[in-house]
Amino acid sequence: MPISVRADLAGIPDYVPGRKIPGAIVLSSNEVATPPPDAVLAAITEAAAEVNRYPLWSSDDLLARLERQLGVDAERISVGAGSVSLCVQLIQAMCEPGDEVVFPWRSFEAYPILTQVVGARERRVPLTAGHRQDLDALLAAIGADTRLVFVCVPNNPTGTVLHTAELERFLDAVPDHVLVVLDEAYREFVRDPEVPDGLALVRERENLALLRTFSKAYGLAGARAGYAVAPPQVAAGMRKVAIPFSVSRLAQAAALASLDVADELMARCEVVVGERGRVRAELLAMGYEVPESQGNFVWLALGERTAAFNEHCLDHKVLVRAFAGDGARVTVGLAEENDAFLAAARAFPR
Ligand code: PMP
Repeated sequence: MPISVRADLAGIPDYVPGRKIPGAIVLSSNEVATPPPDAVLAAITEAAAEVNRYPLWSSDDLLARLERQLGVDAERISVGAGSVSLCVQLIQAMCEPGDEVVFPWRSFEAYPILTQVVGARERRVPLTAGHRQDLDALLAAIGADTRLVFVCVPNNPTGTVLHTAELERFLDAVPDHVLVVLDEAYREFVRDPEVPDGLALVRERENLALLRTFSKAYGLAGARAGYAVAPPQVAAGMRKVAIPFSVSRLAQAAALASLDVADELMARCEVVVGERGRVRAELLAMGYEVPESQGNFVWLALGERTAAFNEHCLDHKVLVRAFAGDGARVTVGLAEENDAFLAAARAFPR
């Protein structure tokens, strides 16, 4: 018999990363447009001089720093190679084959892929007509086999949020055997005061795990570092299933250094937030349907016109993230990049 991979892999879609075309403006991957501050580059360079040595197994220095900064015990923290890696670790640590993972849809496109790769079953729960996560429907979708429910605030790709009162009601109502995962990849771009601080919630709850990343506001998408705050037994399980040494020496150094210059990085986020308002207002004035976004991106609900919009933007040398039949997610970039995108959007026949 010829060598073959697991038969079920054929049914799992490949993760499609944002396209890169030389010379084009890249607004497809929700990255920040600015390179790291000098202090972060210096820390990476310093760490690079020792890449002949393995990194610290449990990212101990970063862990200790996060423990101080977040005010939670290190036993509740798990550091990973980006929050996508932490998603895998969570599913691996919680689910046996046949167990179920519930998540809103559309949401982060890795949720269904990672769930299936681990061998768990997925259950997608449609967003409301207003592009929000439907907590009542998520609750109703939970069954005896459900182990995890993801909620994503702000939601990628729609940018929509959940408010404290409704999320607390949901957390109170979720059955005891289910862990809720609050994915806060874009938390630093939130300005709506009604949006909960996941850190405050996770300190009080034993049925909640929080995911955060250095990829977005901290500008380290290429370094790969993030962390989870979870109940101690869950964090321990996540550390157990982690790929050894996957958080590289460079990533650990970069993350630590970026925490030192957090004020500067948060000031950059403020510029993105300002541009986000401008971009959305202009798109609304052009007649597009764009829900209010609290992330570093906006969502254009284009339905069947999405593929044509994508091609049109490519013709204008602007890369966006299109989900055919549904909509396009456009990262908020530098002012001149946003201007180029808005010019393309303006020229799209509506
Ligand atoms: N969660 C959400 C909602 C995201 O949008 C992303 C990245 N697009 C991630 C997690 C993963 O980010 P990273 O692995 O770079 O931390």
